[in-house]
Amino acid sequence: MKKEIIIHKFGGTSIGSAENISNIIKILDNCSNDNQIIVLSAFFNITNMLESLVVQLKENNFETGYIVLSNIKEIHKNWIKSVNPIEYVRDKMLAQLDALIEQIRTIIQGVSIVKELSLNVEDRILSFGEILSSSLFFIYIEGLKSYEVSFISAFEIIRKDSFGINVNEEVLYNEFEVSNIIVTQGFVCLENGKISNLGRGGSDYSASIIGSKVKAKFINIWTDVNGVLTGSPLIFEEVESLNKISYKQIRELSKYGAKVLHLDTILPAIEENIEVKILNTWDIDFIGTSITSKMMTQKFSITMLDNVLKYTIDKKDEKQYLKRISIILSKLSKEGNELLEVISNIDKTEIYFKNKFSKTNDAIICLINPNISIISNELSNHDFTFDSENRVMKIFVSSDNSKNLLNLIYKKTQKSIKDDSF
Ligand code: ASP
Ligand code: MG
Repeated sequence: MKKEIIIHKFGGTSIGSAENISNIIKILDNCSNDNQIIVLSAFFNITNMLESLVVQLKENNFETGYIVLSNIKEIHKNWIKSVNPIEYVRDKMLAQLDALIEQIRTIIQGVSIVKELSLNVEDRILSFGEILSSSLFFIYIEGLKSYEVSFISAFEIIRKDSFGINVNEEVLYNEFEVSNIIVTQGFVCLENGKISNLGRGGSDYSASIIGSKVKAKFINIWTDVNGVLTGSPLIFEEVESLNKISYKQIRELSKYGAKVLHLDTILPAIEENIEVKILNTWDIDFIGTSITSKMMTQKFSITMLDNVLKYTIDKKDEKQYLKRISIILSKLSKEGNELLEVISNIDKTEIYFKNKFSKTNDAIICLINPNISIISNELSNHDFTFDSENRVMKIFVSSDNSKNLLNLIYKKTQKSIKDDSF
């Protein structure tokens, strides 16, 4: 029987330590009946350091540039130490590290001579985070001698041009003839033959486009939290992890402040109906959150934004109404406020803006899965709207008591939610 393919994307903190490495080995073992593609990000903070290296070079601060480079080298060296490979594997890893750091040094030298840094060279420098992490990780895994594992550079798989992004799945299929695990990089790609990338945070996107092209069984995004939570742990006392959430719901949440992952990046997978799972490398037995196009969660997250401006416009006078809307929209956008949402009912329209410049937290907007009667009692003094289609309540309260109020609502909702309420 033809094996299925699972994509595992590991973020910078997921591969960062020896403890996590042993978890990653367990993850690979758990999926050994399938073929697996490992998409790796750079180690934690390395892309930021490479970005700062670029800034130093642009300002002709070459000495500082070399210091950043030696810090980058140190971080990788420590990582090699921490995963504790056997001696000859360690030597191979150190030699690879030296070779790659030497390549960056040569680029710095070149820039210091020509005193010019093209976009192309910049992208080349940025790509080293993933090149370093993936090649060191590969040597390590190969050195364990327990796996049929191959390395394929993302430059062979992902190509970008003016028509879009292309994934060469044939190279992957061919490689699976001889091995069951392929290690590659996230984020980087070729663009019209030159080294380029998919934008910051782009590793999730790499995992998603590769996964949708090979019709993966799952795309597992390994992070360091328990998937999508029912609320921000910074605000709420009790938060739980959501097992299932639809793409549409999680999009709503992220629009209002939930920070899980860059959502557009998993869209290709969702469009192909491939389940994307957000999992925790620290707790690999935890079920995590599954994102699909169809499934609905039983509870909805609560999330919030500060500084929301709300305008309500009556529809009584049609002419006045349209004029008012256009004045408000143009005035507030010109001032740099961000339009969040326009909700139009029969008799009125509400426009929500995020107020970028306000120094005080005037208001919050939050989305919850309400039991309306209970909550509307609590909220009699407050402003709220209920969007019945999405079963989402939007509450606007002064932020002085917002945390207490939200906590209260959250607890009540927790108690009153029935499993079939979605
Ligand atoms: N290393 C890249 C970044 O930090 C890509 C990624 O991690 O997704 O933006
Ligand atoms: Mg990320």
